[in-house]
Amino acid sequence: MSVTSNPQTRQWQELSSDHHLAPFSDYQQLKEKGPRIITHAKGVHLWDSEGHKILDGMAGLWCVAIGYGRDELADVAARQMRELPYYNLFFQTAHPPVLELAKVVAELAPAGMSHVFFTGSGSEGNDTVLRLVRHYWALKGQPQKKVIISRINGYHGSTVAGASLGGMVGMHEQGDLPIPGIVHIAQPYWFGEGGDMTPEAFGIWAAEELEKKILEVGEANVAAFIAEPIQGAGGVIIPPDSYWPKIKEILAKYDILFVADEVICGFGRTGEWFGSDYYDLQPDLMTIAKGLTSGYIPMGGVIVRDLVVKVISEGGDFNHGFTYSGHPVAAAVALENIRILRDEQIVTRVKEETAPYLQKRLRELADHPLVGEVRGLGLLGAIELVRDKATRARYEGLGVGMICRQFCFDNGLIMRAVGDTMIIAPSLVITKAEIDELLDKARKCLDLTLEAVNG
Ligand code: PMP
Repeated sequence: MSVTSNPQTRQWQELSSDHHLAPFSDYQQLKEKGPRIITHAKGVHLWDSEGHKILDGMAGLWCVAIGYGRDELADVAARQMRELPYYNLFFQTAHPPVLELAKVVAELAPAGMSHVFFTGSGSEGNDTVLRLVRHYWALKGQPQKKVIISRINGYHGSTVAGASLGGMVGMHEQGDLPIPGIVHIAQPYWFGEGGDMTPEAFGIWAAEELEKKILEVGEANVAAFIAEPIQGAGGVIIPPDSYWPKIKEILAKYDILFVADEVICGFGRTGEWFGSDYYDLQPDLMTIAKGLTSGYIPMGGVIVRDLVVKVISEGGDFNHGFTYSGHPVAAAVALENIRILRDEQIVTRVKEETAPYLQKRLRELADHPLVGEVRGLGLLGAIELVRDKATRARYEGLGVGMICRQFCFDNGLIMRAVGDTMIIAPSLVITKAEIDELLDKARKCLDLTLEAVNG
């Protein structure tokens, strides 16, 4: 295990090794190194058990929209726990927090989307999507309309349906996924896959893959297309400008539902309330989670277009739901989180002030010898690490992304590596001074990485 100065760190690492199975981890590696123990946090900073202060460039896992340490959320959670810590919504019952939250989320959602089905996570949201869209078409007398088209390298969660809808090869390899009835098309990742095409031409090509797939499967068999407005976990993949308009054109031609997975983009990350607002998409369903509660407590959901709700409502029981659907404490926390986002005009500040500043500072890294492309939108950013800027050739087999990630950790910054793409998604409350700290540290870590790979 790594060298520690606090004896308690070693004890916690032993507990990890003896008893804990962490998500998305190589257990042998984790045992050898021992996890970094995060003990507390405030604003955009974390502290570990060794006393290091770390700027969290990822807002946890893209979720801590309002930053760490907001007592208001703790207070409403405590109040709600005392008043009504739990009750279910199954048997013609409800409680005030879930009803108030449904109203507030509907107010924020695009016009014509006024109902919400709550879940415990984004993955459960996408499981709900799968069952809901198939149920919808069955009620419309077209039960064969079952196939959902998704994208390679998209991320939609880690449950069986979530991982199947996602297009992550490493996840599909484990557990015999995807399940039948889910097919994948190319992603709009110009830097990685655009070859000699211009970004614009590649965007059109990638969008036309949707039409090809609809025709191949048969419109009569396709239930829906699901996509993240911006692929997050896939590497902050911002589609070329031509992509979404062309997709919209194709969706308008065929009678299929469109599901926007807003788990990352939702609640302000692009400077609009939803990624669908930013790109002017008109989804039929939107999956939400993360920013809904700023990650202070688990909660997800699906916002559903009125036309779909009408069909479902006329179809008798929808036999689906979770013990923790619309949990009263989670709902109370979400309400307070949204109140803070609104009252403090955090989304407007992202749009007008911090996103433009972050994007300007991020692009200054383009001159770095290791950097093949920087891209970003709102408070999302990606830095592509390459051996050759002109050809976009990578350092094959070196794991440059992981090397860079380690330098970041050791220098007080959390930046995530997706292969050799470094990504950031800080809290929406990050200040300009903290953006400077983030980008200054990022440049230093790029220098250290370059030295390491060339040395
Ligand atoms: N969809 C997207 C776009 C996500 O980024 C994630 C999580 N990173 C999920 C779904 C799954 O959410 P959860 O981890 O809450 O199940």
